[in-house]
Amino acid sequence: MSIQCKRCDTPMQTVFYEGVAVKLCFSCKGMFFSEESLIAIEESREIEIPADTPIPRNGPEVRRDCPECDIVMKKRKHGKIRVTMIDYCQSCSGIWLDKGELASIQLGFEIAENNKTRNQFR
Ligand SMILES: [Zn+2]
Ligand SMILES: [Zn+2]
Repeated sequence: MSIQCKRCDTPMQTVFYEGVAVKLCFSCKGMFFSEESLIAIEESREIEIPADTPIPRNGPEVRRDCPECDIVMKKRKHGKIRVTMIDYCQSCSGIWLDKGELASIQLGFEIAENNKTRNQFR
């Protein structure tokens, strides 16, 4: 079963990101996956993210429709230290990330983890 990117109207492809299956739109680089997948990606450390990765700015946050359920997604803050706004579907618990948002989330997670480790040795 294939789902369409709501931004580009093109079918999204299944790709593996750090061993986790995600739906990717090759046109806008938007990604759609489940909440569990997001946690799995955060916890894997296969990819080194440069520390100067900017937090993506999309100007005013754009409303998105869930590619799976066709309903408007909710905005949600993600991350403790670096906060990235993500789109979340209340119906299927799917998460939509625009290009660059995943790197930003991973970097935020990494910073939080590093702080934790540092505090343990104090
Ligand atoms: Zn797209
Ligand atoms: Zn949905």
